[in-house]
Amino acid sequence: MNEMRVRLWAAVILAGCLEAVVSLVLGMWYGGSTGPAAGLGILVAAAAGVAGGPVAGGVVAAVGWGLFFWLVANGAVREVLALPAWIALAVLTGLLGARLWGATRDRERLAAEVAALRECFRDAIFTVDSKGIIREWNRGAEELYGYTRDEVVGRAMTTLAPEDRHDELLELVASVGEGGSEAREVVHRQSDGDEFGVVLTAASVPAGKGETAQVLVVARDLRQLHRAEQRVREAASKYDALAAHLPLAVYAHAVGRRDRLVEISAPVEAMLGYSVEEWLAEPVLFGQLLHPDDRERVMGELAAAGEKGVPCCVEYRLLARDGRLVWVRDESVVLRDAGGEAAYTLGYFVEVTAEKRSEDERQRLVAAEDRALAQALEKQRRLDLLARANAVLASSLDYQMTLRRTAELVAQELADCCVIDIVEDDGSVRRVAVAYGEPRRVGAAHKLPDEPEEAILRVIKKEEPALVGARKDGDSSFGAFESYISVPLQARGRALGALTLLAVTPGRTYGRDDLSLAQDLACRAGLAVDNARLYAEVEERAEAARVLANVGNGVFLVDRVGVVRLWNAAAEAITGLPAGAVLGCPAIEAIPGWRAVVEHIPVAASPELYNTESVPIETPGGERWIAISGVESFGGIVYAFRDFTEEHRVDALKAEFVATASHELRTPLAAVYGAAQTLRRHDFALDEAGRDRFLSLIVEESERLGRIVNEILLASQLEGGRVEVASEPFDPVELVERAVEATRTYLPPHISLEIAAPSAVPAVAADRDKLRQVLVNLVENAIKYSPEGGTIEIGLEAEEDIVRFWVKDQGLGIPYEERGRIFEKFYRLDPHMTRGVGGTGLGLYICSELVSRMDGRIWVESSDSKGSTFLLELPVAATSAVHPANHQVQAT
Ligand code: ADP
Repeated sequence: MNEMRVRLWAAVILAGCLEAVVSLVLGMWYGGSTGPAAGLGILVAAAAGVAGGPVAGGVVAAVGWGLFFWLVANGAVREVLALPAWIALAVLTGLLGARLWGATRDRERLAAEVAALRECFRDAIFTVDSKGIIREWNRGAEELYGYTRDEVVGRAMTTLAPEDRHDELLELVASVGEGGSEAREVVHRQSDGDEFGVVLTAASVPAGKGETAQVLVVARDLRQLHRAEQRVREAASKYDALAAHLPLAVYAHAVGRRDRLVEISAPVEAMLGYSVEEWLAEPVLFGQLLHPDDRERVMGELAAAGEKGVPCCVEYRLLARDGRLVWVRDESVVLRDAGGEAAYTLGYFVEVTAEKRSEDERQRLVAAEDRALAQALEKQRRLDLLARANAVLASSLDYQMTLRRTAELVAQELADCCVIDIVEDDGSVRRVAVAYGEPRRVGAAHKLPDEPEEAILRVIKKEEPALVGARKDGDSSFGAFESYISVPLQARGRALGALTLLAVTPGRTYGRDDLSLAQDLACRAGLAVDNARLYAEVEERAEAARVLANVGNGVFLVDRVGVVRLWNAAAEAITGLPAGAVLGCPAIEAIPGWRAVVEHIPVAASPELYNTESVPIETPGGERWIAISGVESFGGIVYAFRDFTEEHRVDALKAEFVATASHELRTPLAAVYGAAQTLRRHDFALDEAGRDRFLSLIVEESERLGRIVNEILLASQLEGGRVEVASEPFDPVELVERAVEATRTYLPPHISLEIAAPSAVPAVAADRDKLRQVLVNLVENAIKYSPEGGTIEIGLEAEEDIVRFWVKDQGLGIPYEERGRIFEKFYRLDPHMTRGVGGTGLGLYICSELVSRMDGRIWVESSDSKGSTFLLELPVAATSAVHPANHQVQAT
């Protein structure tokens, strides 16, 4: 509920009650006289109207009249006529009251607003009365003078000024006190005593009802004003100094109209050679100096900025008086007046020629750097390609494979197609690699044949590169290709083939750089091919050399001037001549006896036609026989020979054997023949004893013949591997005794036999009969080669897992160097039987063969004169029985 309503209801209720009291009291006391009651009732209603408004007045008047009508007038009809007067009067007073209330409220509100305004202002505002006493004091005054409101209100205004200025202050108050206003600069003093200038504006405030007239004083601190003015002056002088000294021309002109210059600063003359006056006098100067190439752009931008009223920044060239072209940067803004309207354009232009030049230089350097970087990258790419090609070419000796991979690399990096052709050993040119780059670019029209093109064959033949930068009319070597490079692969001055690069892409043409790179690649590829071929050749030769070194036959090469150029290991071994002593030397000097034998060596024109000749040669080890032949070769004559010495010796032995065997056979045959002839003769009477002697002779010589024939037969069987040798355990002592017993029958009288056997001898594992045959043979030889007689000892002993037998005589002995050879077939120490002892030279051969087949070994220990001791060892049987007794047999 607002204030009006409250007042309305309060007035209605209070006045209603008052009307009731008035009507009751006056109705009782003044019966018959209605005048006072009516007057009082109307008065109360009017008061209610003033207090509560016309509505309240009307209501109270109606209520008062009713009470009056019933209580005072006692229902007199004539009083009804007074009702409108009641209500009209009350409403009228209500309307007047309402206006009165409204005026009061407005006044209060105005006073409050003035007070608030006073507080809001930063200026010092205070009021003084006609006597100069301060009545109001705002916050701005507190701040300016340093006095609080409580301190200063009620004090004289002269408190605010120094003593000598009191009068002028009082005078000001007095002059405006009459009415009007006045402003004046005066000196005031703050609470702390500081004096300062203020502008006082005093205005009289007319006196209100019941009030005295006052003077409103506004004091503005002159110090701030002075400071602001000072700042403006400083700024202006700074601006002038700057405009005059800065290397830029400051200008002002009408908005969007460069031809209507208002102002331009002096440095413009130093910059362009035209004075300020010339600029201001010549409106079209700017347009004339502007570079024609920049005119349209600059004018457009300036006009657009002027139209929109926005800042503008543009760079252009102006022609200076001395003919220089001056680059300037022009920046301008549109200044607006207080109403926001575009007033004029203010700007400056500054010379940026040096900046422009350095920018141009920077751009040039950046471009050069970019170019250098691109070149470096290209070089790096090429070096990478070379490095990768190198790695591929060095990765294997299979050059066909490495060339294929190199072609693929090149096709990826440098060409649309790369082919490599190789010259074969027979001179033909074969295509070994074809690789295509980007498949989409290389269509069927670009597929190359398997045969090299004429252009490539020409490159290989002339050993000169070809570079076709762009396809010429009529050059149809490579069909649809745009450009090509073909360079020969070379090594050691020979053309080994060609590397060819082809370009399909329109506009992709090869230049000198590409040619250099292709030559580099071709050089590496050529070296790889040459290396691989050399390696294969070296391998081949090494293989041949290995074969030659390991072949059993001696091989040597004598060149056309007779110098030995090859001498293999077998030649060294057979001749005893080291290669170092022979190689590089004339054959007749290096090979002993060569001059004599060379004429007899057959030399064939080809390997199929040769036959050999056996010739003796002198070696450090004595004479050797070789079977040698020669074959003509490119570098001379290749001689091949084999050691024929052994066969030659066996041949000689065989010849001797035939002679010896003939002799051995002829002697008993002659004896048998003689005895038989004697027995047949009738003229020659023989007694019984004589006939028996001849018959015994026939029997003995026949047995001897049989033994010789058996020996020859057994030797032949042993040689042919047809002799079966058993292995059985037996008692070796018993066997020795039996063998001795067998020989004892034909023991010459001057020879005695002894057996030396220890007490315990393990059984041996051997062929009993063959061992007996061996022992008998040894004992017979001991007897045969002891012409002077002596003792022959047959002994045996056991040692670990062998049993050793020996036959020791005191006969002729065997020279030390012959000890090995006497076991050879047909070998005899005295083939011509100068010592009168016959034999076939087969006995010891048979013994050694039989013993080795029984897993044993036989050897001789002997000296020239003290007899010989033949020893043989045989393995002990796995289950050996030990001979219990000691044997010592003596026989004569
Ligand atoms: P031969 O039938 O000639 O005896 P052997 O093969 O039995 O053949 O013997 C070979 C050669 O060994 C004999 O010619 C002989 O010169 C020599 N020889 C063998 N046994 C003895 C020995 N006990 N004392 C000396 N020389 C021997």
